[in-house]
Amino acid sequence: MSRIDLHLHTTYSDGSLSPREVLARANAVGVTALAITDHDTTDGLQEAFDAGGHLGIEVIPGMELSSQWNGEEVHILGYFINWQDETLQRQLEGLRSSRRVRMIQMLAKLREQGMALRYQDLRSLAGTSVIGRPHLAQLLLKQGYVRSIREAFDRYLTRGSPAYVPRDLPEPAIVMSWIRAAGGVPVLAHPRWGPDRTESLFQQCERLKEDGLRGLEIHYSTHHPQQVSRLLSIARRLNLLVTGGSDFHGETKPGIEVGTGFGTLSVSPALLPPLRKAAVHP
Ligand code: AMP
Ligand code: MN
Ligand code: MN
Ligand code: MN
Repeated sequence: MSRIDLHLHTTYSDGSLSPREVLARANAVGVTALAITDHDTTDGLQEAFDAGGHLGIEVIPGMELSSQWNGEEVHILGYFINWQDETLQRQLEGLRSSRRVRMIQMLAKLREQGMALRYQDLRSLAGTSVIGRPHLAQLLLKQGYVRSIREAFDRYLTRGSPAYVPRDLPEPAIVMSWIRAAGGVPVLAHPRWGPDRTESLFQQCERLKEDGLRGLEIHYSTHHPQQVSRLLSIARRLNLLVTGGSDFHGETKPGIEVGTGFGTLSVSPALLPPLRKAAVHP
């Protein structure tokens, strides 16, 4: 059965496989089209296009940007972006540089607690300019301060723990305007709702739509059927596009596979034409 996967990370952000390796996995499970959606960078796209060209897999230029609304993180995927747009690249560099500042602040807090950690080592371990907490967790593990990535998060890195520093993130309206200006389609990644929500997911989507949102990532590794059907009804009511992807990270998120997520994910190629149509062509 043919399938697509519109949410994939590589070593260009916090994934553990290169774009070439991700494309090889995709090929092995019958993925016919995919989007590379690294955090705050498009640097992996050229390698993905090259590999896709060889394998006959369509590669859609994408990215995932974090934003903040009412104290919560809202992740926005951008599809069919003109990734060489200079303004977009400047905006992405701004996001990457604020990540680096935050990592330096978190390192300082860990050092205050007696850990001999250097930014230089974090930087070379990450091997990319998109440095995130998963990289810091790896450094703590490598230097023997924790026994697992999970312990690194639980003890030091998760929100509210001793070394945590919040990221200063733009509002969703801002990052969606960047995506639109670069010709892309803004989609809400892994929509969630919890008991702490002050407004319903429907209302949130309605507000985001006013600010430029065009679609919802409804098919997702962790979504169970009831969640999918609730999300489909929200998309129908708001006339939003439906997308889907695994959020594959390789070893960074064990258990999630390209194309199939935890085993039951299957995203239909039929979702692609409407998404393509929604892109802003010059
Ligand atoms: P950052 O972008 O630097 O804030 O890091 C966020 C990333 O950390 C997310 O993509 C998650 O995959 C990862 N993450 C967050 N919490 C945990 C956790 N408790 N265990 C493992 N990974 C986590
Ligand atoms: Mn990630
Ligand atoms: Mn996300
Ligand atoms: Mn993601």
